[in-house]
Amino acid sequence: MFDSLSDRLTGALKDLRGKGRLSDADIDRTCREIRLALLEADVSLPVVRAFISRIKERAKGQEVSAALNPAQTVVKIVNEELIGILGGETRRIQFAKNPPTIIMLAGLQGAGKTTLAGKLGHWLKKQGHTPLLVACDLQRPGAVQQLQIVGERAEVPVFAPHPGTGVGGEGELGVTAGDPVSVAKAGVEEAKAKLYDVVIIDTAGRLGIDAELMKQASDIRDATQPDEVLFVVDAMIGQDAVTTAEAFAEGVDFTGVVLTKLDGDARGGAALSVREVTGRPIMFASSGEKLDDFDVFHPDRMASRILGMGDVLSLIEQAEQHWDAQQAEAAATKITQGELTLEDFLEQMLMIRKMGPIGNILGMLPGAGQMKDVLSQVDDKQLDRVQAIIRGMTPEERANPKIINASRRLRIANGSGVTVSEVNQLVDRFFEARKMMAAMSGRMGMGGVNRKSK
Ligand code: GDP
Repeated sequence: MFDSLSDRLTGALKDLRGKGRLSDADIDRTCREIRLALLEADVSLPVVRAFISRIKERAKGQEVSAALNPAQTVVKIVNEELIGILGGETRRIQFAKNPPTIIMLAGLQGAGKTTLAGKLGHWLKKQGHTPLLVACDLQRPGAVQQLQIVGERAEVPVFAPHPGTGVGGEGELGVTAGDPVSVAKAGVEEAKAKLYDVVIIDTAGRLGIDAELMKQASDIRDATQPDEVLFVVDAMIGQDAVTTAEAFAEGVDFTGVVLTKLDGDARGGAALSVREVTGRPIMFASSGEKLDDFDVFHPDRMASRILGMGDVLSLIEQAEQHWDAQQAEAAATKITQGELTLEDFLEQMLMIRKMGPIGNILGMLPGAGQMKDVLSQVDDKQLDRVQAIIRGMTPEERANPKIINASRRLRIANGSGVTVSEVNQLVDRFFEARKMMAAMSGRMGMGGVNRKSK
C-alpha cells in the first residue's frame, strides 16, 4: 500500500547520492519533496510539519558519522524519524498477572473488528494461549453469527447470547440478548470458570461516530476493566482515520491501535498519523481476509518498507557498527599522499569483510539488481586468496611493496598456496590502484575516501 509513497521518498533521497557535501539548499529541496510525498499519501498536516522540521534540524545540524557519507546520513535520519512517528519500539500485548487477560475491540462498523477477533484468537492460540471470543456486537444483524463462523475457522470458542431466548453463552449463564454489557461480563465469568486465559470482546460499531456508540463501548470497558482496549481502524479511510481515532481516544480511550486493510491500495497516511495524533501505539497490522494475514506491528520494519531501502539501511547499520573511524582516517591520509601500504589495504579489507559475505554487501548497494552478473563473480574465495597472499608477505614487504622482486614473489606464492602470476597480479594492481586513488583524491581536494558530512 505504500508503493507510491515509497517511490517518491526513495526518489527524493536518491538525488542526494553521490554528493560529497550537502548544502542547506539540497536539504531544503529534499525536505520539500518528502513533504509533498507525505501529504500526497494523506498523512495529516501537523504530523508532516513536525516530521519535516525534525529532519531539517538534524540534517542541517550536521550529525557527523565517519562511516556514512552525507546522503546516507540523511537516509538514516529519515528512517529514524519515520520509526519515531510510527511509535519507536514494538509494543506487545500486556498480559494480566491474573488471567484472564481481557482485550476489548472498538471501532467503526466495517473496520474489521470481527475479522480481527478471529485473527487475534488464532495468533494467541498458536502461542499457547487459550482464548475465548465474546460476541458483544448485538446491533448489527448477523454479527454474532459472523463471529461464530470466524471462531470456528480459527478454532477458537465463542461465547454468544442465544438468539431470542435472552439466555447467553453456552447455556448456563443467563444474560439478556439485547444487553452487550451483561454479555461481556458473562463472557469474562465464563473464561474464569473454564480457565480460558484471554478474553477477546468484539463490540458493536456504527457507520459514523456517535455518542450512543461511545457510551456503549465505555460501559463495556467499565464493566470488564480490560487490560487492553484496541482501537481497530481501516487504513483505507485516509484522513478520516485520524478524526475517528481522536473521537475514540476521547470517548472510549484505548491502549493500542490495530490498522486493518493494509493490503488495500490506499495511500496509507493513516498508518503514519494515528500514532502521532493519539499518542497510542500501533500494535497490530492486518493485511487481508485470511486468518494469517495479521502480524505484530514493528515500527522499524514498517519504516524500512516505506523507505523501500531495507537493504541499504542494514548496510548503513553494519557500516556504523564495524567502522573503525581512526583506522579509516589514517588510511585516507595515506591514500592522499600515495603512501598506502599492503598492510593498510589488508586492514581495510578485513574491516569491510566484518560486515558479512562480500556478495551480500555489494548486493545491498543501490542498483545492485542490474549488476547481478558482475556481482556473482565477486566471491569470498577470491578475497580469501588476496588475504592469504598479503599474509604470506613479511611486514617489510607489506610496508614497502616496491621491494617485492621475482624471488620474493616465488616465495610468497609458495607460502600462500597460489601461483606466481596471482601474486604478480595483486602487486601490479595494488600499485595501479594506489596511483589512481592518490590522483583522484588530489583532484577532488578531499581527505580521501573518508569524507565527513560536515
Ligand atoms: P467489523 O464491522 O468491524 O466487525 O468489520 P468486519 O470484521 O466485519 O470486516 C468488514 C469487512 O472488511 C469484511 O468484509 C472483512 O472481510 C474485511 N476485512 C477485514 N480485515 C481486512 C483486511 O485486513 N484486509 C481486507 N482486504 N479486508 C479486510
